[in-house]
Amino acid sequence: MGRAFVYVILGGGVAAGYAALEFARRGGYSRGELCIISEEAVAPYERPALSKGYLLPEGAARLPGFHTCVGANDELLTTKWYKEQGIELVLGTKVISADVRCKTLLTATGETISYKTLIIGTGAWALKLQEFGIQGSDASNICYLRNIDDADRLVNAMKSCPGGNAVVIGGGYIGMECAAALVTNKIRVTMVFPEKHCMGRLFTEKIAEYYENYYTSRGVTFVKGTVLTSFERDTTGKVTAVILKDGRHLPADMVVVGIGIRANTSLFEGQLLMPMENGGIKMLLHSIKLFDGDIRRLEHVDSARRTARHAVASILEPSKTRDIDYLPFFYSRVFTLSWQFYGDNLGEVVHFGDFTSSSPRFGAYWVNKGRIAGAFLEGGSRDEYEAISVTVRRKAKVANMAELENQGLAFAIQE
Ligand code: NDP
Repeated sequence: MGRAFVYVILGGGVAAGYAALEFARRGGYSRGELCIISEEAVAPYERPALSKGYLLPEGAARLPGFHTCVGANDELLTTKWYKEQGIELVLGTKVISADVRCKTLLTATGETISYKTLIIGTGAWALKLQEFGIQGSDASNICYLRNIDDADRLVNAMKSCPGGNAVVIGGGYIGMECAAALVTNKIRVTMVFPEKHCMGRLFTEKIAEYYENYYTSRGVTFVKGTVLTSFERDTTGKVTAVILKDGRHLPADMVVVGIGIRANTSLFEGQLLMPMENGGIKMLLHSIKLFDGDIRRLEHVDSARRTARHAVASILEPSKTRDIDYLPFFYSRVFTLSWQFYGDNLGEVVHFGDFTSSSPRFGAYWVNKGRIAGAFLEGGSRDEYEAISVTVRRKAKVANMAELENQGLAFAIQE
């Protein structure tokens, strides 16, 4: 038993939605020749909504309102849209093996799906505490956040403990955004992470200090430089406290874990070189040529959106499609705060702006080998974000660090 397609998009995440839109715009397929296979039960949606709008106590985002591609201010691709476009959605379907030479995929129900061209958009999975040897982390009030089922579980956990205590494990994107959402839902939050400060891979100490102070003013407690070792549980198996390496017990009505992700590559292990160059199988991984010629994996929705569209363009019009010259971009929104970052956080850092206000406007430049390598801005306007991105893309020359510090944002605007 099996089905045959010309194009198969494997994975139903953000990349799948943007790839489908690109196919539809370019019209390079006939009805029934293209499908998306997804383990999830719904059409692709904007994953960033899950840690933001989806968790709001009032007026929360719900499907179909945040299907792709509304996140890029484009069309809303509902199930009806896929039908109209002749794109088949093979949902709730897990692919358990892939044979790249025979160009077939085997599903958990025993169906073989064949393709001529495969787009791999299998995304990533959230690291689990079990993988760090923590026992009992399958309790019903321990939440992860990667897909819509996880988000529903998180919403239900929040509803079950109004005014209660949550412990957030991890000080990265998920930890910071979920902590803000929990506070907004009137739940007391303690954040636990091993680093010296939050967003350790991106923020400088000074930037992190601003957000940590802001979170503290909203009632969040930070426990830094340690990790959890185990849980206390009640007779039903629910977690009641988190036990830390330093011996402390933190009472918990619920726990949210955001300790990183790993790419889903196991289906193709031993079959593909990753990242792959143009050829045989068209790949859609988060590995692309960067603006500085480097190759790396970018864990961000912007990269998923752009690389997806680029992959389809290079499949349908290979001779017209150039290398993607991608400028790394990250952003977050928490409470009333909002920041953007472009480029690399490499080299010497210069901070600028007002770090003291509750409606702040501050930022930083990273200067590497006399040129701007990266720029961060909190509280900027659309034009200001555009200005810093252009400055990074141009790798603007910096003659004098003190002058750069004095000029601050004006340096990018005057460029
Ligand atoms: P991140 O990589 O951002 O953060 C993981 C955090 O967990 C780090 O602070 C890490 O510290 C810490 N950590 C690792 N192991 C442990 C441990 N055993 N105990 C406690 N803390 C630990 O991953 P997230 O899970 O927050 O997010 C997953 C992905 O989701 C991100 O890669 C991002 O792409 C995406 N995302 C993006 C958003 C956005 O762009 N606004 C919003 C939400 C999610 P260390 O660095 O020392 O390992």
